[in-house]
Amino acid sequence: MLPELKWLVDLQELDKIIRGVTQDLERLPEELQAANTVLEELQGEREAQAQELESLQKQRAETEKEVAEMEEGIKTSRQRLMEIKSNIEYKAMLKEIAFKEDQRDHKETRVLELLELMEAQKQSLAEQDQRLQEQQELVASRSKEVETQVGKLQAELAILEKQRKELRKGVSAPLLKRYEFIRQRRNGTAISPVHEGVCFGCHMNILPQQFIDLQKGEEILQCPHCQRILYWQDEVEVLEGDLSRGAS
Ligand SMILES: [Zn+2]
Repeated sequence: MLPELKWLVDLQELDKIIRGVTQDLERLPEELQAANTVLEELQGEREAQAQELESLQKQRAETEKEVAEMEEGIKTSRQRLMEIKSNIEYKAMLKEIAFKEDQRDHKETRVLELLELMEAQKQSLAEQDQRLQEQQELVASRSKEVETQVGKLQAELAILEKQRKELRKGVSAPLLKRYEFIRQRRNGTAISPVHEGVCFGCHMNILPQQFIDLQKGEEILQCPHCQRILYWQDEVEVLEGDLSRGAS
């Protein structure tokens, strides 16, 4: 194999590792952002629940005030009852008092209902606080982890980039350019082994004459189907690895 191609194979391996590290570096903050979004949603829900509780408290206060006012009205009516002389008026007033008492009872029932609703709301608020706290803890610990991991990956990336620079020195500028061009269009695999006349980038047969030329190892050839740069690989074992890393 041409020495330049050997460099290129190594460079491709390294570029794939760099791509993995770069993807991790992008993914980690996104994961953290997702956990933060959940936290914000929980906070929003909590706020809505707290507002609901507040509204129930207000309704309760208002209804209790109404009950007190009705109580007052009933008291006044009872006092007036003493002063009434006519039998008809007396009966009418009794009826009115009974009606007011009925209304008051109705309101009192409503106060009890509101108290129950408030209890339930307080309960769900407490549960929400629990969820919120758990999520806050999760975000805090995850954010520490991410910070550590990002630091590690950045250090790793710096070393890899240095190695990459070195490897690129072994390849001529035009071939590097071709490599980058194909790599971008072929999902990171620009150079591919050929075994028994088959390109392992696209699993198609290359031309017989190309295969003969390839085995001579004198010139740089590209697959007629996927345009990948080719090298001859006689040993199948090595190929398995290349296969699993796969190409489009
Ligand atoms: Zn091919």
